[in-house]
Amino acid sequence: MATDSWVNETLYSAWGQRFRVVRELARVQSAFQDIMIFESETHGRVMLLDGVVQITEGDEFVYQEMLTHVPLLAHGSAKRVLIIGAGDGGVLKRVLQHKGVERAVMVEIDGEVIRLCKEHLPGIGGDAWTDPRAEVIVGDGIDHVRKAAAGSFDVVIVDSTDPIGVGEVLFTDEFYANAARLLSDRGLVVNQCGVPFMQADELRETSIRRGKAFPDISAYVAAVPTYVGGFMTLGWASKDAAQRRVPVEEIRRRAEAAGILGITRYWTPEIHVGAFNLPPYIAETLPQG
Ligand code: SAM
Repeated sequence: MATDSWVNETLYSAWGQRFRVVRELARVQSAFQDIMIFESETHGRVMLLDGVVQITEGDEFVYQEMLTHVPLLAHGSAKRVLIIGAGDGGVLKRVLQHKGVERAVMVEIDGEVIRLCKEHLPGIGGDAWTDPRAEVIVGDGIDHVRKAAAGSFDVVIVDSTDPIGVGEVLFTDEFYANAARLLSDRGLVVNQCGVPFMQADELRETSIRRGKAFPDISAYVAAVPTYVGGFMTLGWASKDAAQRRVPVEEIRRRAEAAGILGITRYWTPEIHVGAFNLPPYIAETLPQG
């Protein structure tokens, strides 16, 4: 086991962040990716997949709260939620915090990610793993969306790796066409779209694809300290354009009714509404930018 060594993130070839490793906890080559979990000096426990930071105990709340509470509260009455990826369990936990959610299905391709996160990052998923409303499936998200019945979910949350390797299928025309089909009338889908200062193509190209399947597309931002390079964007595609323009007082009312108000550390009604105001350098990467 490594002691007092450094781990360099390998996301970009010429720039990156590094962590001082207090203790390596797991290093596994699964059928899909290289999984590493270690204790850092600064961010608590950290998980890397193929050398890319996925989650740290220190700042996971930013990403998970924004990826979950924004779509659920924008929808306003989501009962059935499909989560793709998210093997650490953090999105599942936040989805189940919403009192109105009756069913949350999570489809993660790599069972080893789930196993290792339960063992070494138990606080991320917490009790969500055993919640009777949760169904956890080990499988490819693209297969699941192909098979899902029309109108069977209200919200889809895609918490995937970047569009390389196994995650690539989740950014395709086929994925979004199926997402539109399996969503109910006012359904919407959000997904992680990278850090546009460094990965502008990810947002630009997936926005075009979302626009082929949904009438309303956009993105919103969150400042996640360990997704380095400025704001990260969360892609948005909805059947109902009014959902991203819900007034702040109505968002607050919905959050209170859902049991979310006061339990978050990043999301607030004001941040929810403000997150759709994009800096011009990000807005210009969207088709209607
Ligand atoms: N929050 C992280 C980020 O933005 O860097 C990503 C979280 S990580 C838990 C993403 C998960 O998506 C990984 O566990 C990976 O195995 C899973 N994944 C990638 N491709 C997938 C696919 N086709 N179907 C289902 N899950 C997939």
